[in-house]
Formats: sequence, C-alpha cells, structure tokens
Amino acid sequence: MTLQQMVTEWRHHLHQYPEFGTEEFKTAAFVANKLQEFGLEVHTGIGGTGVVGILKNGTSKRSIGLRADMDALRIHEENTFCHASKHQGAMHACGHDGHTAMLLGAAYELANSKSFDGTVYFIFQPDEERGTGAKAMIADGLFTRWHMDAIYAMHNLPGIAEGQFVTRPRSLMASESSFEIVIKATGGHAAMPHMGTDPIVVGAQVVTALQTIVSRHLSAIDETAVISVTNFVTNGTVNVIPSQVTITGDTRSFTDQALHKIEKAIERVVAGQCMSAGVDYQYRFNNSFLSTINTPEETAHAIKAAESVVGAENVNGSCERFTISEDFSFMLREVKGCYVLVGNGVGECGGTALHNPLYDFNDNILTHGVGFWKVLVEQQLSA
Ligand SMILES: [Zn+2]
Ligand SMILES: [Zn+2]
Repeated sequence: MTLQQMVTEWRHHLHQYPEFGTEEFKTAAFVANKLQEFGLEVHTGIGGTGVVGILKNGTSKRSIGLRADMDALRIHEENTFCHASKHQGAMHACGHDGHTAMLLGAAYELANSKSFDGTVYFIFQPDEERGTGAKAMIADGLFTRWHMDAIYAMHNLPGIAEGQFVTRPRSLMASESSFEIVIKATGGHAAMPHMGTDPIVVGAQVVTALQTIVSRHLSAIDETAVISVTNFVTNGTVNVIPSQVTITGDTRSFTDQALHKIEKAIERVVAGQCMSAGVDYQYRFNNSFLSTINTPEETAHAIKAAESVVGAENVNGSCERFTISEDFSFMLREVKGCYVLVGNGVGECGGTALHNPLYDFNDNILTHGVGFWKVLVEQQLSA
C-alpha cells in the first residue's frame, strides 16, 4: 500500500467517526494505537484526550513539536460519499481528520526513515474549536514534562490552491473574545418613561459608541480590529419599558496590545453611557483565543520546508492576515514556533468553506502535509 493510500484510509476512517471536543476517546485511541504500532513512546490522557507520541533518534538534544487537532463539529454532514459521517449531528467539517492523518503519516515515515537526529514530539490535541484543548494540554504539563525547541502546526484552508502553503511572520490570525454587557435600569409603563430609566435608549447609545473604539481609539495600521455587536435582548414588551438589556458581541484583533485596549475601552464606553443615564451595568469579557503570532525564525524554517516540498512558486511566506482564530495561539505563547496553512483547493475540488455541511478535506493534499512535516523535521534536526 502506498503512503497516499494508507493515509487516505486513516483519514476516511476518522471522517466516518467524528467526535466532539473533549470527547475524542476513539480518535485518541486510534492515534495512540497507530503511534505504538510505529514504535513510538506514547502518552495518552494529556489534558483530557490529548496524545503525545515521542520519537527519538541519534544523540542530539535538539527537539521539535508538531501539532494536529482531533475534534469535530456539531454539524450534520450533507455529503453522501462512502466516508461520510456515521455519527448523526457530528462532522469533521474543519478537516481535523486530515490534520490527524497527516501527522500520523509523518510519524510513520520518520519512524521508518530515522532521517533525523534529535527528538520529535507528535502532539494530538483535543477541542481546538472551542479553544480549550491547547490550554488543557499546557496545564497538564505539555511543555514542562517535555522540552521542545520549537513547535509547529498546520491547518487546511479552502480557497487556496491545492497544496499551496501560506503563512507569515508575527501575527497570522486574530484573537477572538466575546463580551456581555447587562444594563440594569428601572422599567415601567411605556406611557410614563420619566418614571423610570430606559435601558433601551442607553443600550442603543452603547452600541453606537462601541463603533468609535476601532475608528477612534485603535491605530489603523498596528491595531487592526473588529468589534461586532451580535445580540441585543430586552425583557420589555409592546407597552412595557424593560428593566434590563443584554448586549453580546465578539471582537477580533491581531496583537495583545489591541486586545487589552479593546477590553478596557468597551468597559469605559459602557460605564460612561450608564453613568450619564443613571443606570447600573455588569460587564464580562472572555478571551477564547489569543492572536496567533509566529516567531520570525521559525516562520523562515517552515517556509523553507514548504518550498522544498512544493516549490517556491507554491509558497507565500508573507500572506495577508486572517480574522479566523486558532487555539495553537496559546501554545505559541509558551514555545516559539509557526502555524502554516495549506490550500485545500478551489472551486469544486476542495473549495467548500470550512464548517460547511458539504465540506471535505481534500485527500490530494495529504502527502503534501506529510511531506512538509517530514522535511521540516529533517531540516531542523538534520543528522
Ligand atoms: Zn474549525
Ligand atoms: Zn480547524
């Protein structure tokens, strides 16, 4: 069986049996079994269902960590091909089945070739989608139990030509934070607004004033950001002024500096508006993902490896930033490294968007991914 056939078989198996974040029990067992079969030292149950496979060769103290994600989404798959999901309401709609299969392929290849000198850590993490998996593995000692000189991760991206690699030094992808503002006022009869304090008027002013944070408080060059109000709920009705308004929203930014400014600025806006109206508020800000920040040296290493596999003409090492988010960002705050995106294809062949019920990982790029991991290890841990 060729490498392509073998990795495709694993990918199709994983695609048929998707598991939600933190519940990747069968996926983790599948991964652990394969790694053991290849002769790696295997550690399971890291940060929940996380798996770490360790492959040593030679005498060098150098080390590298490679990460794949294993979780699926709460989406009902609409594809009808043979390897479609057999779990109702669950689907590998982000290609983590492909990422897991590619990293397994790299472990298989490197265990056989032993074409490096040092230690390779194969990291299979749970729950990337909700941003808890990387943090859980870190909290469980991922980087204190094992030293890694640098870490790398790869994600497919529809809309980029099959097998092309894109990345960039420094901020590649955005942070994602959610906020909730609860305005507490004194509701009352719609005919007598002067008898109370109307939280809808205050809330409307808050929504408008939030628009000034990006436009007036953040640098247009260094602090690109998005602040979106996504929900506005009251407990009023047709003839009742409500006593409460809940405003929720989502923010994206590319630097910690912008993120902290946004967190503070939202509260300042809310506090000012509420004070002027004489109402109370509660404010909650939650960082789900930090911005994904690649270190320049490791980005250069990743670009070099990608160029060796697919040719320089198929690698863009200074791509535009993306407003999507990734919890590998938390790992990159612990250890230097780089996140790369590999094209899943365009149009009918791999172009369907991530998180779409008709998405599928493109099997044609499996060997590109395996090749990238193998060459990256061989170059960074050269014998
Ligand atoms: Zn996703
Ligand atoms: Zn994903």
